[in-house]
Amino acid sequence: MSEVKRDAFIDGRWVAGEARFAVTDPFDDAPIADVTDADEAMADTAVAAAERAFAGWSRRAAPERGTLLGALGARMLADERRLAELCTRENGKPIKESLAEVRYAASFLTWFAGEAGRVYGETIPASNPAQRLLVTREPVGPVAVITPWNFPYAMLTRKLGAALAAGCTVVAKPAEATPLGTLAIAELAQEVGVPAGVFNVVPTSRAREVGGHLLAAKAIRKISFTGSTEVGMLIMKNAAADLKRVSLELGGNAPFVVLSDADLDAAVAGALVAKFRNSGQTCVAANRFIVEEPVAEAFAGKLRAAVAELHVGRGSDPRTDVGPVIDDAAARKIAGLVADAVKRGARVVLGTPPDGASRLIHPVILDGITPEMALWRTEIFGPVIALRTAADEGAAIAQANDTEYGLVAYVYTRDGARQLRVAEALEAGMVGVNEGLVSTAQAPFGGIKHSGFGREGSRHGIDDYTNLKYIAQRIG
Ligand code: NAD
Repeated sequence: MSEVKRDAFIDGRWVAGEARFAVTDPFDDAPIADVTDADEAMADTAVAAAERAFAGWSRRAAPERGTLLGALGARMLADERRLAELCTRENGKPIKESLAEVRYAASFLTWFAGEAGRVYGETIPASNPAQRLLVTREPVGPVAVITPWNFPYAMLTRKLGAALAAGCTVVAKPAEATPLGTLAIAELAQEVGVPAGVFNVVPTSRAREVGGHLLAAKAIRKISFTGSTEVGMLIMKNAAADLKRVSLELGGNAPFVVLSDADLDAAVAGALVAKFRNSGQTCVAANRFIVEEPVAEAFAGKLRAAVAELHVGRGSDPRTDVGPVIDDAAARKIAGLVADAVKRGARVVLGTPPDGASRLIHPVILDGITPEMALWRTEIFGPVIALRTAADEGAAIAQANDTEYGLVAYVYTRDGARQLRVAEALEAGMVGVNEGLVSTAQAPFGGIKHSGFGREGSRHGIDDYTNLKYIAQRIG
């Protein structure tokens, strides 16, 4: 294992700063590395590098850009064990999930390697026979990329792959809890020959100040943000000052609907995936379980049995299904949500309410959830299952849509007509029908309502990084 990169990566060079911040293991606070704490001046240098590099990169033949992206994806896979171990150390997630994340993250680079050569334009039949109307797609320019800590590799590559394929250059600011994964990808990008300035990384502990400064830089023409709705709204407001393009992948409050004719074993299997990946800390985590009354008891019984089997522990232990949550504030928030629900009448059907003092949270199942409880409206981001019953399909849909968020929704039913009818009625950018895992590079990932806008992955993922140019040409 080569030494972990700890400095800012600007214009193809590793730049050490005097100020540094500590990255620690969420399991036991063991120090992993002290990382350069980039300041506003470093952010400016990175933007200037991205601006200079844009001219050459955007003019490179698209298939050549694709070849480099493909090489980077392959390089990640060749190093998957080391990258996964690094992810488990800085994020705490179970090692099997870190491995899955590295593969998922690499799949975006492979996908966009192909898409680079498919940024097609169009010709439009003109009313005037002496005219030809062409539409081309041009890269928007240097892009600022801001990512969260919960998927340090995948949230980066979903953006980096699309941006570089389109011909844009990137300045990335990773989350302060997990900068090492992004720096590791920068190292591999350098190794496979991504030119200097095309991909820059500025780690910082002062997200608001240095991140805000980066986003406000004149040369940045687009902002791609994944994180909380609160910060996303602030970023959009600030971006208005310079009319920068923005895409926002924000929080979720996913309903998981189990209808009376569902295959309950399949629903339980899907629930485990949708709820417990990354210890419940995913934007697509099932947050509210809505079960039609006739099967409520049977579903809860099967779920209880399956959840009781989950192994809670250190991420590096291969048996672990649920690792620590990211920090103390997260542990306290989850404990507060459970306490509020219990105070308002929820029943604990499995586990013990967390006390907020430990980051290692054992799964809890609550039933009797009502809309007055804070966890009905709040992204839990932890291993807590909240069960509510619905009298019929219509009530289940109304409950599912009773949220400001709209990222993903899940529904379990065997009835083919019902599957499509309910999927259409659910207010979400994505719907899993008898499926607890929807994320994949070839499909458009993204939300509606307070979950943001823009799509990542799929053939649509590149759209946000291109401007349409219409050319009217007179030929006679
Ligand atoms: P967060 O909003 O606190 O931070 C996200 C990123 O924004 C971090 O890099 C942070 O340093 C940076 N940041 C914070 N304030 C900033 C500011 N004022 N200016 C510029 N940058 C700033 O979110 P988080 O806690 O890191 O991540 C969890 C959230 O992300 C959850 O709400 C989750 O649902 C969401 N998320 C969404 C998706 C999606 O695709 N929709 C995917 C993963 C996570």
